[in-house]
Amino acid sequence: MIMSYELIDPPADGSRVTVAGDGSLEVPSDPIIPIIHGDGIGEDVGPAAQTILQAAAQATGREINWFRVYAGEAAQERYGEDVHLPEDTLRAIDEYRIAIKGPLTTPVGSGFRSLNVALRQHFDLFANVRPTYHLEGTPSPVKAPELLDIVTFRENTEDVYAGIEWEAGTQEVEQVRAFVEDEMGATGIIHDGPVGIGIKPITEKGTKRLVREAIDYALENDREKVTLVHKGNIMKFTEGQFSEWGMEVAQEEYPDEEVFAAPNSLWEAEGEIDVPEGAVMVDERIADAMLQWLLLRPDEFDVLAMPNLNGDYLSDAAGAQMGSLGLPPGANFGEGRCLAEPVHGSAPKRAGQDMANPCAITLSGALMFEYMGWYDAAALVKDAIEAAIGAGRVTYDLHRNIEGAERVGTTTFTDEVVGHIEQLAANQ
Ligand code: NAP
Repeated sequence: MIMSYELIDPPADGSRVTVAGDGSLEVPSDPIIPIIHGDGIGEDVGPAAQTILQAAAQATGREINWFRVYAGEAAQERYGEDVHLPEDTLRAIDEYRIAIKGPLTTPVGSGFRSLNVALRQHFDLFANVRPTYHLEGTPSPVKAPELLDIVTFRENTEDVYAGIEWEAGTQEVEQVRAFVEDEMGATGIIHDGPVGIGIKPITEKGTKRLVREAIDYALENDREKVTLVHKGNIMKFTEGQFSEWGMEVAQEEYPDEEVFAAPNSLWEAEGEIDVPEGAVMVDERIADAMLQWLLLRPDEFDVLAMPNLNGDYLSDAAGAQMGSLGLPPGANFGEGRCLAEPVHGSAPKRAGQDMANPCAITLSGALMFEYMGWYDAAALVKDAIEAAIGAGRVTYDLHRNIEGAERVGTTTFTDEVVGHIEQLAANQ
């Protein structure tokens, strides 16, 4: 079917990524990939990522046909003041399946809802995946940064982020209060006076597909352990249920010699659990304790699978251990879909000054490449970024903490990474 767009046109050349009958992805060597540069520093780092990712694609015999689409402020400029997420953009991401986006600004308290959340919900991108690891040469707030090599899987569609909430002072919130108190018997808990109320749904479907994705990733990438991170000790029927359903996936869907479920492993010491040789262990940890382990013993963890809110906090904390918010990458995955995006936001105070670090969005593109099966191009991107940082000419955020480094702008750093890609490819 030929799609028509209102205010944008797909590139004249290029092919579509498609999904085969068995659910596997079919990626041509000249894919059309929609890109949203994003708000604030998105206009600095978005084009930089395009340049670096294209260089890596070309160095491995491929060609990306970028399809610029709009959201946030750029969409308002093009489509009108009230349009933050145009139908054109949704249609393009839907049609081409794999896309990359920069950060989008979200107003706090009032105004429109998060466009990031809207995109994740619209495409049912149920898993937010963030690999966090030490890039050689980067500054880190911890003493042994090389111990960090963790991939976080955050459930993306439910929990308190589902958007089922009512504002204080409205008739709706009072109706919900009355229902909870009068019909459900939860009296004497909600204080008198104005209240805001939200609902925290955790479903079997949402939990199981997330945990399945995390276990499959661990199996495919030679990881030893998947840890379910929850607050089931306090929120028994939501987070506790997350842990039970997660363990059910490990117990019922994989042979014991491949995946070993360790329910009730919360209080057991590492060596006390007898895991079959070569099997991935699925264990569990309480979320607040996990924040401590992340700092104190990151080398004991591999893959973390979490409900939405825990995942938000823990993946940011892990990302910070990489040394700058300009570094941690991420991507959202659904059935046959990927929307790559950096962890950081639009950092308005650094926008338009050729300052921001383009590594996070570019490494998010590398994650997108891995999803497309372009492992060689992904490795080239990562190696070239490491080489550029190692050479000591870095953006302001890294320059702050690397002794003897020289400060360069986004565009110069981008050129340097491209230079390393060409050099690395020539030496292969
Ligand atoms: P932020 O945009 O991530 O920025 C916080 C600080 O981190 C910046 O001021 C800057 O600090 C540093 N930083 C972030 N990205 C960087 C980069 N690429 N290079 C160098 N330094 C970088 O967080 P925020 O200020 O809380 O949020 C701003 C807006 O972004 C909000 O509207 C928020 O909702 C939105 N947001 C969007 C997303 C998304 O689109 N997925 C994610 C998070 C936040 P210094 O310069 O002071 O060192």
